Amino acid sequence: MADPTGDALRFETRAIHVSQEPEDLYGAVNVPIYQTSTYAQPEVGRPKRYDYARGGNPTREAFQTALASLEGGTHAFAFGSGLAAETTLLLTLAPGDRVLLPDDVYGGTYRLLARVLRAWGLEHDVADMTDLEALRAALRPQTRLVWVETPTNPTLKIVDIAAVAEIAHAAGARCVVDNTFATPYLQRPLELGADVVVHSVTKYLGGHSDLVMGALVTSDDELAERLAFLQNAVGAVPGPMDCYLALRGLKTLAVRMRAHCEGARAVASFLAEHPRVRRVHYPGLPEHPGHGVARRQMRDAGGMVSFEVGSAEEAVRVASSTRLFFLAESLGGVESLIEVPAAMTHASVAGSPLQVPETLIRLSVGLEHPEDLIADLERALGGA
Ligand SMILES: *Cc1c(COP(=O)(O)O)cnc(C)c1O
Repeated sequence: MADPTGDALRFETRAIHVSQEPEDLYGAVNVPIYQTSTYAQPEVGRPKRYDYARGGNPTREAFQTALASLEGGTHAFAFGSGLAAETTLLLTLAPGDRVLLPDDVYGGTYRLLARVLRAWGLEHDVADMTDLEALRAALRPQTRLVWVETPTNPTLKIVDIAAVAEIAHAAGARCVVDNTFATPYLQRPLELGADVVVHSVTKYLGGHSDLVMGALVTSDDELAERLAFLQNAVGAVPGPMDCYLALRGLKTLAVRMRAHCEGARAVASFLAEHPRVRRVHYPGLPEHPGHGVARRQMRDAGGMVSFEVGSAEEAVRVASSTRLFFLAESLGGVESLIEVPAAMTHASVAGSPLQVPETLIRLSVGLEHPEDLIADLERALGGA
């Protein structure tokens, strides 16, 4: 299931062709869903390719190979969720090691380190990664991983991946980038110097809100060998049906991301002009503090927008009054979603260093017509 054509092909073409040749027996143009837990072996101790599906599955391998190509990496590993991918990556560390987290890290990542892995001896520190001096000051001799998210959740701060990777390497640490919000269509961290990319495939890569899955991508052979071992030894693997759906999601990733960006730009511009909106967070707006870095390291500004209104009550009222934007957690699907982070996604992680304003509303701008989405927001904002 190698890349038949090499990396000379462009992103859109690789998303459809890498590891997705027609199947041998009938010529099916889609990679079959190999719904099997085990494989008959022609001889004792000599499996054809796979011996047991925790260790390998052709549908999973097709997804992994395609994703590695899109991220510009040489190895990818799929897991049962984004957090399962993160857990497996963190299990490459040892007791006494430290992870440096951004101060607005995804809440589930913070909870995993603070409330699960700390008991196993893995420690963490926290820094504002948009401030490179603060980042340097937070590094310790035991820091093994510097964890980056960009754009961040939910205030869409932009972190300079190349600069952070350089500082991490100088300190003898690896740089991990959670690329869930940007996707490889908009941003390829490995090309900017990062060592590992983490994905919640649940979001844009799957793209249709119909699966939960995660992935890791790297070009570091030593780390990849350890991850391959842990993927099987820990066993937090996805099923073949989800791998099929994720592979199908990759085929349309480029066109979906272009439309997500176009819709988000229109929505952000509308919000920036609205009298009830105090502040809009969207890296595509020239007044966003990370706009310059975003232009350098991203192809476009993404599909997530957040904004502040006058009061916590108003935030709840607006988020409860849209019709097209569904009131829900998660992001990255074809349907637009709205939520109040302080009361929803960011309420579940008590003790997190992140203070989210109660007046903040987060949008995942879907693929509906932008004018319909703007009319929906206008109605919701106006009806006090
Ligand atoms: C959702 C999410 C995760 C966790 O992924 P799951 O698939 O829900 O386990 C990690 N990082 C970011 C940025 C996310 O949005």
